[in-house]
Amino acid sequence: MISIAIDGPSGAGKSSLAKRLAAELGYVYVDTGAMYRSIGLYALRQGTDPHDAAAVTALLPEIRLDIRPGQGAQQILLNGEDVTEAIRREEVGMAASAVSAVPAVRAYLLDTQRGFAKTQNILMDGRDIGTVVLPDATVKIYLTASAGARAQRRLKELLDKGQAADFDTVLRDIEQRDYQDTHREVAPLKQAEDAVLLDTSDIDFEASYALLKKTVLERV
Ligand code: C5P
Repeated sequence: MISIAIDGPSGAGKSSLAKRLAAELGYVYVDTGAMYRSIGLYALRQGTDPHDAAAVTALLPEIRLDIRPGQGAQQILLNGEDVTEAIRREEVGMAASAVSAVPAVRAYLLDTQRGFAKTQNILMDGRDIGTVVLPDATVKIYLTASAGARAQRRLKELLDKGQAADFDTVLRDIEQRDYQDTHREVAPLKQAEDAVLLDTSDIDFEASYALLKKTVLERV
């Protein structure tokens, strides 16, 4: 089985690029961020502080995630409810970043994530895929861009959707998420030693896609 691990910080374009490449290669796309987001959403709905490790751990037995990956898209159900759209909100991303620092949450998701790679060719995106989830992945990519470039793209996305947003707030959120993701004790965001670094700060989406595709095809 072929597995492609794509890691990197929030807003580097990982999921849009990964979805498209998975569809083109005919691989199953697995979005691990959506799993952390669903747990973050559940904590918010229960009024639980996502930073409270003991309280978040106590919620886990109540949570059933049904992840339905596909070629170029993934659907996710939280206790039977389709939350694929609901988990995309900004505050859910922040909650996801907080719950993802809880060791029990990471342990809860690990087997599920590894299971996807056993029976099919997959492209998995996240923060710790190349370092922890799939250390033997066929290809590892670390996709990044400067915080300023990521904030600029995110701002455009929000404004295009008609949502109120300003650059400084978006940049602050990105920097806070970067800090949380790189400083947690368990499975922090970092480039695997054998990952190829792709920096998309100065190139647009099409150029980033061409670079990613070429890098992967040279290695599978
Ligand atoms: O990629 P996405 O922004 O959807 O991920 C949401 C949050 O989930 C990230 O900020 C990160 O803290 C966490 N995450 C993680 N490990 C992964 C994927 C996501 O810790 N493999």
